[in-house]
Amino acid sequence: MKPNYSFLLKLLIAQCLALACASQGYDFFYLVQQWPGSYCDTTQGCCYPTTGKPASDFGIHGLWPNYDDGSYPSNCDSNNPFDLSQVSDLTSQMQVSWPSLACPSSDDTSFWTHEWDKHGTCSESVLDEHAYFQAALDLKAQANILQALENAGIQADGGLYSLTA
Ligand code: 5GP
Repeated sequence: MKPNYSFLLKLLIAQCLALACASQGYDFFYLVQQWPGSYCDTTQGCCYPTTGKPASDFGIHGLWPNYDDGSYPSNCDSNNPFDLSQVSDLTSQMQVSWPSLACPSSDDTSFWTHEWDKHGTCSESVLDEHAYFQAALDLKAQANILQALENAGIQADGGLYSLTA
């Protein structure tokens, strides 16, 4: 059976960053990660970022504030656009852990801009831009999906596994 890699892995961050989310206009965060091969294996295709071929690992898609009813806030503050200079100490890590696979090839900045503008601004009262990207990087390291799969005997080596496995 073909392995079901074609999903966006949505991890409910139960800790909710230990913040009083409800009072900030959202209930919890999803840390959304994407498997590069799955993104490329869709009709839109993919392009490697100008910084090089992404690692064979899940990459961050975004850190998304959400509501318990399944809806989510978006584009909450057009007065606070993404500012690359605020995350200059994180960009080398972000290039590894948060690459953009969209075409045409980019240096990832447009993806980070989109994620901050659409999702990040909705938690800005508790996470400023730097804290938002830092939190996503830290949570990805904490929720090490490849390690969890490996612990379960599943190698991300192109092999096939049953759905049950
Ligand atoms: P979202 O899912 O956060 O609402 O929007 C994702 C947007 O980011 C899409 O417009 C998509 O074209 C753009 N994008 C750029 N790079 C990537 C990527 O690597 N993965 C995904 N899923 N979207 C990307």
